[in-house]
Amino acid sequence: MRTNELLQWDRAHLWHPYTSTIDPLMVYPVAKAEGSTIILEDGTRLIDGMSSWWAALHGYNVPELNQALAKQAEQMSHVMFGGFTHRPAVELGKLLVDKVLPEGIDQLFYADSGSVAVEVALKMAVQYQQSLGNRGKRHFVSIRSGYHGDTWHAMSVCDPDTSMHSYFSGTLPVQYFVPQPRSRFGGEWDARDLHPMENLLQKHSQEIAAIIVEPIVQGAGGMYFYHAEYLNQLRRLAEQYDCLLIFDEIATGFGRTGQLLATYHTDIAPDIICLGKSLTGGYMTLSVVATTKTIADTICGGEAGCFMHGPTFMGNPLACAVAKRSVELLLSKDWQKRIQDIESQLREGLASLACHPSVAEVRILGAIGVVEMKEPVDMATLIPKFVNEGIWVRPFGKLVYLMPPFLAITDEELQKLIQGLINVIHG
Ligand code: PMP
Repeated sequence: MRTNELLQWDRAHLWHPYTSTIDPLMVYPVAKAEGSTIILEDGTRLIDGMSSWWAALHGYNVPELNQALAKQAEQMSHVMFGGFTHRPAVELGKLLVDKVLPEGIDQLFYADSGSVAVEVALKMAVQYQQSLGNRGKRHFVSIRSGYHGDTWHAMSVCDPDTSMHSYFSGTLPVQYFVPQPRSRFGGEWDARDLHPMENLLQKHSQEIAAIIVEPIVQGAGGMYFYHAEYLNQLRRLAEQYDCLLIFDEIATGFGRTGQLLATYHTDIAPDIICLGKSLTGGYMTLSVVATTKTIADTICGGEAGCFMHGPTFMGNPLACAVAKRSVELLLSKDWQKRIQDIESQLREGLASLACHPSVAEVRILGAIGVVEMKEPVDMATLIPKFVNEGIWVRPFGKLVYLMPPFLAITDEELQKLIQGLINVIHG
């Protein structure tokens, strides 16, 4: 099939994320990706500023990950996890418990994707409360501008205004929301940020099974970085009102913010942590939901006698093998130094944009650089301009941001990303 035929077929038959079938946004045919470069069918080379949506932390076509995958495929690609176990699942689990997760969060449930991990975490919270006889505790509270995925319950805890609530109103479970904390990460803590959550829990804690938040960085809901003290205080409130505290670390996990988990910017540990995206180095879909033995045993001590979830591809050996190698590779490198250097380069490089008349704010944390515009941008006109600059950047809403594959990108490549973004914004 020639490239233009491929594109025509794609346009006629394939749905892309949040894309109309009537007048779809243009898509670019990728032939190959290696290091931090995505190579199109016509040979155009694009420096990746997206890490394929927070996932490809080592970049693409990574020899160690390719090898782990090929080696596992020679043994078995998949066997059911019901009644079987295998080395990739156990070895990945042990690595996560020993080296990644906070102490005591050592009961792991493998799921298929980030959204499914959120569903699993919410179901765990409901079953936990049921086991304790708290049958009314079936709802959730979150903060505005959050994003937790596109499946049903995950969608219900996303920001009610900027997400998809309006399109599914009347059919989605109704949850509680409090305003986003105004205290910024690294700035002054204002204790008033907590009042809405305190008031809500005072009134409604009898209905609330868990508080769910993206710790420190709100991603797809606004790329916003908030104060760690808010999370310390949520821990206290969760205990006071018998709610579980769920941290959705699907985007923040594995170093992106400068800590291995965003949880480590705080003084506390949540009850449940969801990991996904860069868990497999962006090679394939896999997520994990981790909790404590006490919570797991409470769930299983209830009426059902077990946790009621069991996906077909649970603990997929290929995904676990590649995830194990990816985590090992990350931990073997001086990733913290690399993140610090990228953070400095982003800070310096993007600083001048703060004075641009169309820019509302520039904010940087770890290997995340965000330029918030005053008005929503038009993706259809902006993306081809980025491609012309030889970079891959996909803005949304008012947000133009860089999130490069931090263990692959060189200083020169990052400079090209920064300069390309500046050129396009200056238009
Ligand atoms: N939670 C967060 C914080 C996310 O950023 C995402 C994905 N953008 C999800 C959940 C959903 O993950 P997935 O797309 O793998 O279902």
